[in-house]
Amino acid sequence: MEDNIDLILQKSIETHNLYENEILYLLKSKDTKKICSFADIVRKKYLGDEVHLRALIEFSNYCKQNCLYCGLQRDNLKQERYRIKEQDIISLAKQAKDYGYKTVVLQSGEDIYYTVKKMAYIISEIKKLDIAITLSVGEKTFNEYKAYKQAGADRYLLRIETTDETLYNKLNPQMSFKNRIQCLENIKKLGFEVGSGILIGLPGQTLKSIAKDIVYLQSIQVDMAGIGPFIYNPDTSILSFGKINQYDNFDLSIKVMAILRLIMPDINIPATTAMETLNSNGRIIALQSGANVVMPNATEIIYRKKYQIYPGKICLNDSPIHCRACIENKIKSIGRFISQNKGFHKQSSSNVVLN
Ligand code: SAH
Repeated sequence: MEDNIDLILQKSIETHNLYENEILYLLKSKDTKKICSFADIVRKKYLGDEVHLRALIEFSNYCKQNCLYCGLQRDNLKQERYRIKEQDIISLAKQAKDYGYKTVVLQSGEDIYYTVKKMAYIISEIKKLDIAITLSVGEKTFNEYKAYKQAGADRYLLRIETTDETLYNKLNPQMSFKNRIQCLENIKKLGFEVGSGILIGLPGQTLKSIAKDIVYLQSIQVDMAGIGPFIYNPDTSILSFGKINQYDNFDLSIKVMAILRLIMPDINIPATTAMETLNSNGRIIALQSGANVVMPNATEIIYRKKYQIYPGKICLNDSPIHCRACIENKIKSIGRFISQNKGFHKQSSSNVVLN
């Protein structure tokens, strides 16, 4: 068994290609540490010690969708709702720029208040600040995505969540797996940098299906892959669906992230907030297991408390400036440094000097 792992890892760092059954083999392995140490070597070789920060602005928690696992789901009546007005979103972005961020990520539930016109206005105003803009506002039509792009958005983040179509359609009522795939294709076609990713440990999710998720992310050549451990939220309807998985979602998420780094050596991979929720050192462990991006929260305290996708979210009582300083210290403490550029996904051919 151990010999096999060594062979697979060796192959991965030489070819950056693995078959689905080899990925499954790694997923089943108990030696997460070894997989992570290989991923760390690949990260260093292709991307160096630079860490990109993205300021996360959670601008609305209204959502028309009803994803069973998500605290923003429409039927969660315990969730007090808020939306930040256009001008205040722009001000938050200005503040983020003043704190030294080169990218803002605008995230929300699927809130119909923000018409294309409003979004285009917000995007074009933020664009004047000369920072990169990532959007994470869910499923839209081709023309809506196009308008966002034309207004100046650079990247779009839409997790596929799971590539198990049956599971996806059950967990996301009124939505469809096929449409999610179509959205990702449209985003790519329009020239956005594409961010996607998966949830780890959903009820009914198997290691085999996670192996397929990894293959899918590679096949669509994502520019960024975000891996989040599923965290049970008692205010959601997830239990109506079935029993919660017995995986160690933190360990498995780190492992999935590391495998992605092995096969996609130069993409952007964030150390996700949900990882830190399950392990107080989670983002540092992630940065040492293949990750090269962190998305500190730049939302004001009054709002971030209400953006409860899952319980136990970190930094609820911290201000944006505090989060910036805190993560900077953590990053420096492991010998890494904060990038001074916008952190676009660089193609390996133009970037890497092999050996
Ligand atoms: N409406 C946007 C943003 C969704 S929230 C969209 O559809 O893309 C951002 C991410 O939170 C989701 O993509 C999902 O992967 C994650 N998430 C939702 N519920 C979660 C839970 N219970 N535990 C951990 N992550 C969760």
